[in-house]
Amino acid sequence: MMWGDKRYHSLNYELKKTFGQKVMKLSLDGGFTCPNRDGTVGTRGCIFCGEAGAGEFTASRRFSIAKQMDIQRSLLSSKWSNGKCIAYFQNFTNTYSAFDDLNKKYNEALSGKDIVGLAIATRPDCLPEYVLDLLEEINSKTFLWVELGLQTIHDKTARFIRRGYELECYQKSIYELRKRNIRVVTHLIFGLPGESYEDILNSVKFIANTDTWGVKFHLLYLQKDTDIHRYYIEHPFHILTQEEYISLVADSIEHIPPEMVIHRLTGDGKRSLLVAPRWSLDKLRVLSDIDMELKKRDSYQGIKYLCKE
Ligand code: SF4
Repeated sequence: MMWGDKRYHSLNYELKKTFGQKVMKLSLDGGFTCPNRDGTVGTRGCIFCGEAGAGEFTASRRFSIAKQMDIQRSLLSSKWSNGKCIAYFQNFTNTYSAFDDLNKKYNEALSGKDIVGLAIATRPDCLPEYVLDLLEEINSKTFLWVELGLQTIHDKTARFIRRGYELECYQKSIYELRKRNIRVVTHLIFGLPGESYEDILNSVKFIANTDTWGVKFHLLYLQKDTDIHRYYIEHPFHILTQEEYISLVADSIEHIPPEMVIHRLTGDGKRSLLVAPRWSLDKLRVLSDIDMELKKRDSYQGIKYLCKE
């Protein structure tokens, strides 16, 4: 089983298949906040969340959506100039606002040049009926996906990371989104303190059996000025080695269904903020090691998922 030259079903492959060419994401800061920071659910946010609200690579929120898209395009233009794009609302909780504000921002992004779709990162507890209705309407006119930061299925870890909602909330939101035919992408973090290899794989196996369209595997990294870094200084815990991470990712790929789209296979820490693990900065090497590991195993996405069925 191959997806282009990969042994896993990458987003790149999926978008090329859908749009007939390479499609890039333009990361945007929609100027939202988060209920886990503004006091509605919590005040300090998830333990790993940085000042930028889990989106360190977007342009400043001081700029309009249109201006941010221009800036992002110009950053990418050396590699690629006139291609199609997905507008990606990345920072903070991008459904956490009134209907008119969301409608205006999503449509401003959609009206940009060569925008063929929209990606919206949010929390499962921020999908009230009026948001679901709006997303359904947007989904009827463009290629939409909604990203949910689950991170783990384990209650103890969820409390530790201050996620601020229960697993049932995630399950209900997947159900509501899928009922409206909206694609869902689920985020998991590997290497959270207190989780064993088996705990992590159990999170992977769990989401393999939800109706999530895509998945992002993140490596836990310690970034300056985050509570997880402060916690680590006082209570050092094991940080995954590169070898452990590669093995874990290869196992995870084997356990998810072949049709599930893999949006990310490694962390994306900003060099200036990243404390550990520094090996994650060499992203190309990590990706190439994952390819090599799958090749060595003569394995591919879904091999263990399919066996189990
Ligand atoms: S839900 Fe996202 S933006 Fe909000 S605190 Fe957690 S990581 Fe940060």
